[in-house]
Amino acid sequence: KLSKRLAHVASYVEPGARVADIGSDHAYLPAWLYLNGKIEAAVAGEVVQGPFESAKKLVETRGLSEHITVRLANGLEAVEKNDQIDTVTIAGMGGSLISDILDRGVNKGILTGKERLILQPNIGEKRLRKWLVKYKYQLIAEEILEEDGKRYEILVAEKAVEAPSYSDQELLFGPFLLEEKSPIFLEKWASELVQKQRILAQLETTNNDHQAKISELKQVVKWIEELRA
Ligand code: SAM
Repeated sequence: KLSKRLAHVASYVEPGARVADIGSDHAYLPAWLYLNGKIEAAVAGEVVQGPFESAKKLVETRGLSEHITVRLANGLEAVEKNDQIDTVTIAGMGGSLISDILDRGVNKGILTGKERLILQPNIGEKRLRKWLVKYKYQLIAEEILEEDGKRYEILVAEKAVEAPSYSDQELLFGPFLLEEKSPIFLEKWASELVQKQRILAQLETTNNDHQAKISELKQVVKWIEELRA
């Protein structure tokens, strides 16, 4: 059985997709997708030997080797042209690491722009949204969920003709999440508010080197306070 987090990631994979799951760890996500008849094939990419071995073992013991290829590689370098990947999932990492992986995927010509990106950053969602805008990907869905007391966001994006024009608030909160303002979303930002106010108070009591950071934080605090208005 898949974790709730990964099950929600899986729900954005279209039927019959050919998936590359980067940073696959045990390959739970591609294995579940294949065993449940959701996909045609998958590549599970891992850069670390231990998780790579775990992924290979799971795929072999479940008899999935013909359908799921496990490769030891850095990021999207796990993907080969013949794989005909149309969906990339990257889950359970920070937004900056995900952005770096996508950057290299673009620079090496591996990401063609035809792939749907299903991303689940643990932190750094704003940075990831900025990456999507820079490379002209448009968000087609967003979700925030809670599992075992932790909140996770899922960002689903596809290449657009023009760069989407998200406001600074939309980049921070997520355009869909901001529109929806779900209870989990409001809880997340209520707790962020407490943290940001604490940092702000600390910065304001120390010396004056932090003016830019202080005004940025004040702006964010104001936006968060406006969420409930
Ligand atoms: N995707 C799974 C999930 O969401 O449950 C596993 C998440 S695990 C916390 C992150 C995995 O990404 C680790 O197994 C790590 O080795 C792998 N990883 C980190 N950087 C990577 C990279 N550049 N390329 C491939 N895998 C990477």
